Amino acid sequence: MTTITTCYHCQSPYDALVASWCDCPVGDPTLVCPSCTSCFCLATTGYKEGFWQVAPDELWRRRAERDATADELVPGATPLSRPVVLVICSDLAERVETKRVLGGLGCGLVFAATVDQSLELARKFRPALLIADDRVDDLEGSRFARALRTETGLAGTKIALLSSLYRTASQREEALSRLAVDRILTRPLVADEAGHLIEALLS
Ligand SMILES: [Zn+2]
Ligand SMILES: [Zn+2]
Repeated sequence: MTTITTCYHCQSPYDALVASWCDCPVGDPTLVCPSCTSCFCLATTGYKEGFWQVAPDELWRRRAERDATADELVPGATPLSRPVVLVICSDLAERVETKRVLGGLGCGLVFAATVDQSLELARKFRPALLIADDRVDDLEGSRFARALRTETGLAGTKIALLSSLYRTASQREEALSRLAVDRILTRPLVADEAGHLIEALLS
């Protein structure tokens, strides 16, 4: 049996039954196109619904199986490579993008969608660096960075805020001290900037 589908990204046809699952930090992973290596996590809802509407039972069965074993917050291999970088981001598409950007840097990646979740995962994985998207609810209000640093074992964790605010040097200075973070990264995250930061903070 074959199930030929068309890649939403490069339009190449491929057999969904022999494609592998992606390891995006999302609740419902998708399949990877063998031609361009794009999964369809970032395709439109219409594309995804259309795909599953015509998908054979075998694929639905594998999807259910996959759901039972997947850990969306800790994609990829365990034990994690070191250093561990924990990313707090509530937006699904941004988590997928961030994983792409940081995936090649060789660090272990863990994702959290909320502040509470991030604290829990930080205790568990002791990240060397935490990157917090400033649009996550309660990030400022919870005095998040300070709360994190009072945790035993997490005092050395570096914290970077991902933001599109704070354009000038003085705005950045003010935000660094008010929020008690080590660095401000400009959204969207780019591999070079993140890579330099990881090197600089962790060397
Ligand atoms: Zn493709
Ligand atoms: Zn994916």
